[in-house]
Amino acid sequence: MAKIFCVANQKGGVGKTTTTVNLAAGLAKVGQRVLMVDLDPQGNATMGSGVNKRDLPLTVYDVLLGSAQVAEAAVASQACGYRVLGANRELAGAEVELVELAQREKRLKQALAQVDGDYDFVLIDCPPSLSMLTLNGLCAAHGVIVPMQCEYFALEGLSDLVNTIKQVHANLNRDLKIIGLLRVMFDPRITLQQQVSDQLKGHFGDKVFDTVIPRNVRLAEAPSYGLPGVVFDPAARGSKAFVDFAREMVARIERM
Ligand code: ADP
Ligand code: MG
Repeated sequence: MAKIFCVANQKGGVGKTTTTVNLAAGLAKVGQRVLMVDLDPQGNATMGSGVNKRDLPLTVYDVLLGSAQVAEAAVASQACGYRVLGANRELAGAEVELVELAQREKRLKQALAQVDGDYDFVLIDCPPSLSMLTLNGLCAAHGVIVPMQCEYFALEGLSDLVNTIKQVHANLNRDLKIIGLLRVMFDPRITLQQQVSDQLKGHFGDKVFDTVIPRNVRLAEAPSYGLPGVVFDPAARGSKAFVDFAREMVARIERM
């Protein structure tokens, strides 16, 4: 049975897509069968996995609207070692079109049930909003991975997300929980980041992942080559951290 995780945070630019593609590549590297689902109409996770979003005959849009199955719409990213259910601008229209459909927040969950035996992990990259698309991600998932920067307003922003997750848990998906908070773009030389990191651990305890992702320029450069950092430069500090994170995730799900 596949374990399904959403990478979510309603803030933009916090590292969701970087986390999704690098965790996918890290998991593939340690031998896991991975499907990466791009739920953001910007299609950054698709492009960042070596798949051209403009060339895709079928995307997650077709899957959500019921005109394609996951197995036929997903494509292999040869370079990255995982499969990609891609997205492009077309997906922005799904928000409106889904309103008409029955069980509109459960479309992705129902579609993923068909490939449950084909993967060990399904990772869903969510857009920076609490939209119908994100809701589809949250309804399909067993858990949420929350990437966050250790900055002054980080904790404040988190309470909205925590409340949304609680509501989805109560009303739509009893399985859903926060798997963990991932500290990303971390710079230990900045005292404030250390302080926020300590606060985070004080508040959320073992919900904070042990692995810390450093700020690392190679991770930022990789998308322009259409690759996750883990594939683009495996020796980079940031890439190694994501492979460590993949191992931590494998260990966590064994205890789930
Ligand atoms: P989101 O998907 O939440 O909008 P992204 O993953 O696209 O965020 O990251 C935002 C920007 O920060 C991108 O330019 C990305 O390359 C950069 N970035 C993400 N993580 C790191 C990191 N650990 N070190 C350096 N740059 C990073
Ligand atoms: Mg993104």
